[in-house]
Amino acid sequence: MSSIASSMERGRAAESKIAPGPILLLGAPGVGKGTQAKELVKLWGIPQISTGDLLRANVEQGTPLGVLAKEIMTRGELVPDALVNDMVAARLLEPDTARGYMLDGYPRTLGQADWLDARLAAQPESLPVVAVSIQLNYNQLLRRITGRRICPVCQRIYNIYVNPPEREGVCDVDGTPLIQRADDTEEIFKERMRAYETLTAPVIEHYRALGRFAGVDGDRPIETIAAGIVTTVERLRKT
Ligand code: AMP
Repeated sequence: MSSIASSMERGRAAESKIAPGPILLLGAPGVGKGTQAKELVKLWGIPQISTGDLLRANVEQGTPLGVLAKEIMTRGELVPDALVNDMVAARLLEPDTARGYMLDGYPRTLGQADWLDARLAAQPESLPVVAVSIQLNYNQLLRRITGRRICPVCQRIYNIYVNPPEREGVCDVDGTPLIQRADDTEEIFKERMRAYETLTAPVIEHYRALGRFAGVDGDRPIETIAAGIVTTVERLRKT
């Protein structure tokens, strides 16, 4: 968040006695989960664990998981729970998760949520999970998806409509030509939205019923959304 958070907001969060713990960043495809997670992990000093990024890394490296996931991801469908859960389990064993972590794009099904809940229940020292969803309407999401561009080197995320680079098509940080994700087309977006509405929306209801969920309005400047997420997580932690 260093680039965008006001020093006041940063100071307030730094003063907070509340440990970050496990945080779930939920929301439809293109809503800005990755952008927000990258800002918030800087603030809280906990890792961002994006299942989409982990799967894309497997695809790039041609691992057995990557070979299996590639086709599924290209169609905009979800990778089977067991594979994603195993991948998350391995990542959560790394020591940087001890103070907390921000899961970005996970859990995406009730099966994944049940698996995560059971895992956390088996770790009494862990804080309970809190879930925050960033919310935007369908047309805004479509614009975010089709306008998204990514730097393949530093992974910075741009949007040609709402957050363009200074020089068209080139990363501000390292000058690398920006790329578009293969699944960031209108056609695949529709499939990803179908998967979201049928499989992921119930995950939100699951955490809402537990009193561990809150939504934030995603139609605001990046820094305002980030500040809203900080306040929301702190509030959920106190309940
Ligand atoms: P994302 O980068 O979060 O938009 O994810 C890109 C794609 O990776 C999704 O459309 C799915 O095919 C796959 N994926 C990411 N996270 C998950 C998950 N938790 N469960 C199943 N599939 C996932």
